[in-house]
Amino acid sequence: MLVDIHAHVDDSAYDQDREQVIERIRENDMIVINSASDVPSIATTLELAEKYDFIYATLGVHPYEAAQVNEKELERMDQLLSHPRVVGVGEIGLDYHMEELDKKLQQKAFIDQLELANKHGMPVVIHDRDAHKDTLDILKSHMKVTGIMHCFSGSYEMAKQCIDMGMYISIGGVLTFKNAKKTVEVIEKIPLERVLTETDCPYLTPEPFRGTRNEPVYTRYVVQKIADIKGMEYDEVMRIVYENVKRVFAKIR
Ligand SMILES: [Zn+2]
Repeated sequence: MLVDIHAHVDDSAYDQDREQVIERIRENDMIVINSASDVPSIATTLELAEKYDFIYATLGVHPYEAAQVNEKELERMDQLLSHPRVVGVGEIGLDYHMEELDKKLQQKAFIDQLELANKHGMPVVIHDRDAHKDTLDILKSHMKVTGIMHCFSGSYEMAKQCIDMGMYISIGGVLTFKNAKKTVEVIEKIPLERVLTETDCPYLTPEPFRGTRNEPVYTRYVVQKIADIKGMEYDEVMRIVYENVKRVFAKIR
């Protein structure tokens, strides 16, 4: 079973042909975890997960929208996390790439949502962009559940630290890019038992489609690249990643 653990199929990029994109997921016998990124997408993500039995949901608010994480929304998320189709909290984290975003506000939203995950004993899907140190510090002091570094872009040393904390490394299309040396090294060195696969679609389309809109079925190019790097068969990589997915997300079987 091919698994995309992090997709945004509810994104407006699919408004013209969402049904076809989802049909291709079905034809390829995949499991997709759709990730919310703000308050409106919590509703659209849930809608998809309720409608299709091969789509699951993670609910959370991305650091860009940290200001949306108030008491009322936290309470609502707290209730929704018990929904049978919701498998985790995400995407949440820190993004220091855009200077104008308030770091303290991001950190508070991140910690508040981590506490929710702890309360529900659910895995968290972490977004970390240009904020490695603060992300790891907050995870070390607040996370009591399994964490997934989504669209991992860090060094092997960072991957090793995450793995030592019991976390998983999720790999997307960037691995297939020509300049992906650092990520290739990460895959060479870490055990496949700690690797998950994703697209983060509609963004970060793998080769050979780089530059066009991404979609979940392209996860296969990420799996193929991992197989090439590890010197393994495609099917074996897919099987081990699926085992990892079932270990991390208790509601997925
Ligand atoms: Zn994402």
